[in-house]
Amino acid sequence: MILTQDRQDIRDPCRIVWHTPRGPGHSHGARRGESLRKWRRFPSPHELPRCEVGLKLRQTGRGRRVIVIGGGPAGLMAAATAAANGARVILLERNPEVGRKLLLTGGGRCNFTHDTDVAGLVAGVPGNGRFLYSALAAFDSAMLRRFLASLGVESRAEDDGRVFPFSGIARDVLGALSTHARKKGVETRCVWKAERILARDGKVCGVIAGRVPMSPGLVSCDAAIIATGGITYPMTGSTGNGYRMAAELGHTIVEPRAALVPLEIEDPWVAGLAGLALREVAVTSFVGERKVETASGEMLFTHFGVSGPVILALSREISLALGRGEGPARLVVDLKPTVTMAGLDRGLRQAFETYFRRRVANSLLELVPARLISIVVREAGMPEARLASQVTREERLALGRAIKGLVLGVKGTRPAEEGMVTAGGVCVGEIDPCTMESRLVSGLYFAGEVIDVDGTTGGFNLQAAFSTGYVAGLSAARGGVVENDAR
Ligand SMILES: Cc1cc2nc3c(=O)[nH]c(=O)nc-3n(C[C@H](O)[C@H](O)[C@H](O)COP(=O)(O)OP(=O)(O)OC[C@H]3O[C@@H](n4cnc5c(N)ncnc54)[C@H](O)[C@@H]3O)c2cc1C
Repeated sequence: MILTQDRQDIRDPCRIVWHTPRGPGHSHGARRGESLRKWRRFPSPHELPRCEVGLKLRQTGRGRRVIVIGGGPAGLMAAATAAANGARVILLERNPEVGRKLLLTGGGRCNFTHDTDVAGLVAGVPGNGRFLYSALAAFDSAMLRRFLASLGVESRAEDDGRVFPFSGIARDVLGALSTHARKKGVETRCVWKAERILARDGKVCGVIAGRVPMSPGLVSCDAAIIATGGITYPMTGSTGNGYRMAAELGHTIVEPRAALVPLEIEDPWVAGLAGLALREVAVTSFVGERKVETASGEMLFTHFGVSGPVILALSREISLALGRGEGPARLVVDLKPTVTMAGLDRGLRQAFETYFRRRVANSLLELVPARLISIVVREAGMPEARLASQVTREERLALGRAIKGLVLGVKGTRPAEEGMVTAGGVCVGEIDPCTMESRLVSGLYFAGEVIDVDGTTGGFNLQAAFSTGYVAGLSAARGGVVENDAR
C-alpha cells in the first residue's frame, strides 16, 4: 500500500518515510532493509515497494501528476508545457544543474533551430525524420523562435539557415527556459536520478528515483516522460540509461550509435596535418564500392583523423554502415570543388610555366594549401625533386586527379563519447507520433534524443528535442489528448 507523506516530509524531500498500518514510521530499521533489497533486484511492476520517497508535489489541485526524467532541452520543454497545461510536475535531473549539454551546443552559441518550414525540418533529420512530422507541425521553427522571444530571447538566422539567440550565448536560452519552467510551477529536483518506471495494469503509476547518492524510493505519478537524451557526451549526464528504463517496460531499443562524430583515418600522414582547416571542400563518402553521399563545407585534420562540419555530416551513414559490418569506408576529398578538372589542369599548366625553374612543390603554393602539397604530389606518384619544367602531361593530369580526389581510408568513428548526437534509441514504431505516448504503456511518454531520431547539423536536433518535448508535455498533462494551441 502506498501512502502520502505528512507536512514535515515535504520540507525534507530526501527523507524516506515509512508507512505502517499504524501510521508513518522512520527511515531506519528492519523494514527499510527489507524494502531496499526489493528495489535492488528491481521488483516487477506489480510488486511495488512499500514506501514512498519523501518527494511530494507541492501544488494542490486536481491536475495530473507528471514526472519528467531529464533536464535537457526536451525535458525542460516537456515539464514547462505540462505545468502550463495544468499538470503538477516534478522534473528530475541527475546533475547539480539542468541543461549541461545545451550549454555546449553550437560552440556555446546554441544553434537551436533552422530557418525553414516543417518539410525542411523533416528533411534535416535523416534518422526517422518523418516520425517528427506531427510534432514539428505542432511546434515548428517559427513557433519555437516566437516562444523564446516571448521569454526575452530574440534570435537571428544566419545565411545558411542556422538560428542562434541574438546574444550568441547558449546560457541565455537555458536561463529563459529554466525560469519559464519555474514560473509555471515545475518543481525541479537536481541531483535526483530516476532508476526505473513502474507500471500497473499497463499504466504508469510511479518512478523509482532518489537523491544521489541516497537510496531511491517510489514517487507515484499519473504520467512519466523519459527525456534522458542519448549516449554521446556522457559527462553531460546523457549516459543512455533511459533506454534501460524503456526496455524494462517492453520497448524495443534500436542499437544506439554515435552520429555527427569525427572519423579516424588509417593513413598515417594525416596526423602530421593536425590543426589544418580546409574552408571549402567537397567530400564524398564510399562504403565498399557504394558511393554514399557528398557534402561540402569545412573540414579539419586532427591527430586521429578528420572532423569539422562536412565530416560530421557524412559520419552518420558511415557509422551505421560500419555498425552493420559493412566496409571498408573511405572519403574522397575534392580540394578544388568550384573548379572543373579541365580548369584545374589549365591552372596547373600556367603555374608550371610561370615557375618553371622551381620544384613542383614550390610552384603549387597558390593552388593547394602548403601543408598538403607534398601529400598530393606523392599521391600523384611524382618524385618530390621534380622541376616544374620537367612535368609531363600525364603527371600533370595525375596531380589534378589527386587534388580533386584525395583519398582517405576510414579506420572507424571516434568513440560514442565524442559524437554530437545518437542514432538509434527507442523504436519510433512503438510511440504515437501525435502524442509521444508509448503504444505499449499508457501514461509513458518520450521526448528528445532518447527516441530513435537523429538530425544533421544546423539546429535540427534541438528543434526535434523542443518539438517532441512540447507535444509530450502537452499530452501528458491532458492524458493523451492533444489539442494544439501553440499557434
Ligand atoms: C558538443 C555538442 C554540440 C551540439 N550542438 C548542437 C547544435 O548547435 N544544434 C543542435 O540542434 N543540436 C546540437 N547538439 C545536439 C543536442 O545538444 C542534443 O540533441 C540535445 O541536447 C538533446 O536534448 P535532450 O533533452 O533529448 O537530451 P540531453 O540534452 O542529453 O539531456 C538529457 C538530460 O537527462 C539527464 N538524465 C539522464 N538520465 C537521467 C536519469 N536517470 N535521471 C535524471 N536525469 C537524467 C541528463 O543529465 C541530461 O541533463 C549538440 C550536441 C553536442 C554534444
